[in-house]
Amino acid sequence: MITEIDIHLPLRKALKDDARRKAVAQELQISPKRVLGMRLLKESIDARRRPISKQLRLLVAVDEELPPAQLPTKHYAPVAQNARRVIIVGSGPGGLFAALRCLELGMRPIVLERGQDVTARRFDLQPLHCGDCVNPESNYCFGEGGAGTFSDGKLFTRATKRGPVMEVYETFVAHGASPEILTDAHPHIGSDRLPDIIKAMRQSIINAGGEVHFRTRVCGLLRSADGSRLQGVRSADGKEWTGDAVILATGHSARDVYRMLHAEGLLLERKAFAVGVRIEHPQALIDAAQYHLRPGEQRPHGLPAARYALASKIEERGVHSFCMCPGGHIVPSATAEDEVVVNGMSLSQRNSPFANSGFVVTVEPEDTDDFLPEHGVLSGLAYQKALEIATAQAGGGRQKAPAQRVVDFIAGRVSSMLPESTYEPGLTPCDLNALLPAQVAWRMKEGLQLFNRKLRGFAGEDALLIGCETRTSSPIRIPRDKMTLQHVQLPGLFPCGEGAGYAGGIVSAALDGRRCAEAVAEL
Ligand SMILES: Cc1cc2nc3c(=O)[nH]c(=O)nc-3n(C[C@H](O)[C@H](O)[C@H](O)COP(=O)(O)OP(=O)(O)OC[C@H]3O[C@@H](n4cnc5c(N)ncnc54)[C@H](O)[C@@H]3O)c2cc1C
Repeated sequence: MITEIDIHLPLRKALKDDARRKAVAQELQISPKRVLGMRLLKESIDARRRPISKQLRLLVAVDEELPPAQLPTKHYAPVAQNARRVIIVGSGPGGLFAALRCLELGMRPIVLERGQDVTARRFDLQPLHCGDCVNPESNYCFGEGGAGTFSDGKLFTRATKRGPVMEVYETFVAHGASPEILTDAHPHIGSDRLPDIIKAMRQSIINAGGEVHFRTRVCGLLRSADGSRLQGVRSADGKEWTGDAVILATGHSARDVYRMLHAEGLLLERKAFAVGVRIEHPQALIDAAQYHLRPGEQRPHGLPAARYALASKIEERGVHSFCMCPGGHIVPSATAEDEVVVNGMSLSQRNSPFANSGFVVTVEPEDTDDFLPEHGVLSGLAYQKALEIATAQAGGGRQKAPAQRVVDFIAGRVSSMLPESTYEPGLTPCDLNALLPAQVAWRMKEGLQLFNRKLRGFAGEDALLIGCETRTSSPIRIPRDKMTLQHVQLPGLFPCGEGAGYAGGIVSAALDGRRCAEAVAEL
């Protein structure tokens, strides 16, 4: 008999095969000797009570052997000479997974990416950390792999109804990610591993007859003679790229793309987004709170750096932590010289002594109405940009970020001293109350005090706020038909991923990329 069994074991025992076998046998009310094979299917930590335990879902073989485990592999057959050409703009998770799905469906993806390949891109990040310069085409948001490449690589998603999440994980594993992401309840990859995985995906695309073009910024649309259908795009070097469909997966930082679509007369919609700050704590503080450690007690062996996710509604607006990076670093993720934007990343080991997370408040479209007369539907972009410029000015230049201890933020005074931080360009003490929009600042204060009751020390002496986090999601939706996924006014254009307003994270963008490729195949 081969069956799935859930067991719950204290941490130390959960690591031992014998203890697992005994628990499984107990569950099945049989002798442990009859359990001839066990394979981990899912693993999560239960830190609500002490002793901390693990919940394990195992594939169990009774009185017979388990069939050998097979790691997922992906083989993309070469596309036919006359295969449909699909132009994919952007090589983030949306674009890359669209391209791989195109191959599976027998179509030829032509990927156009404004930034550099992942190796060259790594070098472009260095000057950002020294505050020397921001390369507007190659940075934490732009370049091969998109915004997810130098991230924490968190793959946890609630978007399970949007498509086959396990298929996305398996594609990552087939391209070099650790098989642990298939069993971990909160999988992540890490910035040190993602670049090689992205390179392997590019190789899959090219090997099967697709194309990937770097330093190719798309700046115009090519319509059919009567203007009724999209036939391709124009890149900044004047080249024209034609195909049967265009999947536009340019992310939420490509403001020039929204402007281009607006200038083309295409319908765009304002949508809610969120802004706030990064909050940073010693990882030991988060571990102590989440694992209920005694004062001075170390995180037990076998437990990962603790994570958290906090959310509440304060006077009709969401206040929440966002993209939490255990054992991580805060990074400068601006895309232009005159702005400061912060975000978070971590390495696969998540071993920095600090934890950080976005701490943000919902911004409804009407909050951006001040920018409406000048910017119309793009008012949310103008709101974000204004805050990013003000943040840069408060930081004092060279990508330095304004910062304030949480206790000083609540008291409304500039911090006389700032604690150590992972943000390399440097910090400038500042009153974030004066920098952030008022509705954001007061809700943040309420939220900090509320979350402090849920997570001990969250708003304590060691907590630091670093401004500003503005790129949590897109302030604009590019409307598409629910069935065909084509722009409501322009057949042939498939708005895709986070920038189009249909994803919020690596996995949901990947799923949306796959869906768009499938919709193109239906044409
Ligand atoms: C530092 C950081 C850490 C993050 N951490 C996580 C995390 O741990 N987990 C998670 O789920 N999400 C994380 N995110 C968010 C996640 O990266 C995004 O949700 C996801 O990448 C969106 O995918 P996308 O394909 O829609 O767009 P993007 O990844 O933004 O990709 C868009 C691509 O299009 C290219 N492009 C833009 N304009 C043009 C143009 N005109 N012509 C050609 N190419 C163009 C860009 O260069 C870019 O490569 C993080 C983001 C950042 C910045």
